[in-house]
Amino acid sequence: MFNRLYIHVPFCVKKCDYCAFVSYTPEDKELTEYPELIMSELQLHASGEQSIASVYFGGGTPSLLQPLQLARLLDEIAKLADLSIDAEITLETNPGTVDHISLKAFRDAGINRISLGIQSFDDQFLQCLGRIHSVQQSRQAFSDAREAGFNNISIDLIHSLPNQSLNQWRSELQHAIKLSPEHISIYGLTVEEDTPFAHMYPLNSPDLDHDLSADMFELADELLTSSGFEHYEIANYARPGFRSQHNSGYWRRDGYLGLGVAAHSFLRKGYGIRFSNPDNFEDYRQAVRSGQLKLIGELELTQNDAMEEYMFLGLRLSNGVNRHDFAREFGRSLESVYGYVAADLARLGLLVQNESKLTLTKRGMLLSNKAFASFLL
Ligand code: SF4
Repeated sequence: MFNRLYIHVPFCVKKCDYCAFVSYTPEDKELTEYPELIMSELQLHASGEQSIASVYFGGGTPSLLQPLQLARLLDEIAKLADLSIDAEITLETNPGTVDHISLKAFRDAGINRISLGIQSFDDQFLQCLGRIHSVQQSRQAFSDAREAGFNNISIDLIHSLPNQSLNQWRSELQHAIKLSPEHISIYGLTVEEDTPFAHMYPLNSPDLDHDLSADMFELADELLTSSGFEHYEIANYARPGFRSQHNSGYWRRDGYLGLGVAAHSFLRKGYGIRFSNPDNFEDYRQAVRSGQLKLIGELELTQNDAMEEYMFLGLRLSNGVNRHDFAREFGRSLESVYGYVAADLARLGLLVQNESKLTLTKRGMLLSNKAFASFLL
């Protein structure tokens, strides 16, 4: 039913001004108790035979947990499930929360991939975003991670920041390339409701130039691919052999179990079941302690739901959607379900198709929401 584990750690030193994720500043006792709750939750799900190909500690700021706590959690996972010897085990890391000692200890604990939330190589933008770290701390964290033995490091960057010019974005990309990570994730800033940013930068704010966003996407594609990165997913670039296995599993609709506050799960049963955990600590704690998990918004997908998802998620990847795989999954040919949609999108220059597969063009990636809406049944 699942072969991947996502562990959500909803704690941050301080909330960033643009952030809409479930995260807050924890009390010490919450930090101490949380890994125990995750272990108890895992025991409620464990069947003993489950084989796990990847584990992802996301957040929030999972690097606020102690390396020893993570080591125990990974031991428990290995006891309760068949944790593959070459499993990809990622830790999202805020550069302001680690040093060379903790990074070495995370490596020793079994973490083998670091995803470093650098976001920008400009201190003014970091301050504008409300990040807790400086560029110097990001650079230090990266080199400490390398020294600690991490040979698979991903960094996150955000573009379309308030008043950011194309040349400033070019410089961000050049800094990223020079640092030489194995993987880069690139997101355009979205101003989410109920964040400080929504008040500071209302719709149509002159500080946000939405027209530049497309140019920034194209510049990233041009500079990163000419520097040896593969643009393998709309927002993700990797050196050959370093695509995120865990996230690739999401886009292929592998089953995953989400543990922790507000964690989402997708189980491969029938056409798939989606649900999430309570999104506040106390409700989650009580549910786990009572042994009765309250699953929120449990949804059993219909075949139509699953086919739509298959297209939205698969088309995010540069490999696209394979016709043969679609037919094997659903017992229907892709042409019979989506032939007319694919032809329309191809006419608009958003998609290319051949005998074996469908892929989005670069323009299709830029206008992916428009393309995906066409696949709703
Ligand atoms: S560190 Fe990440 S999760 Fe935490 S507040 Fe900032 S953006 Fe949100």
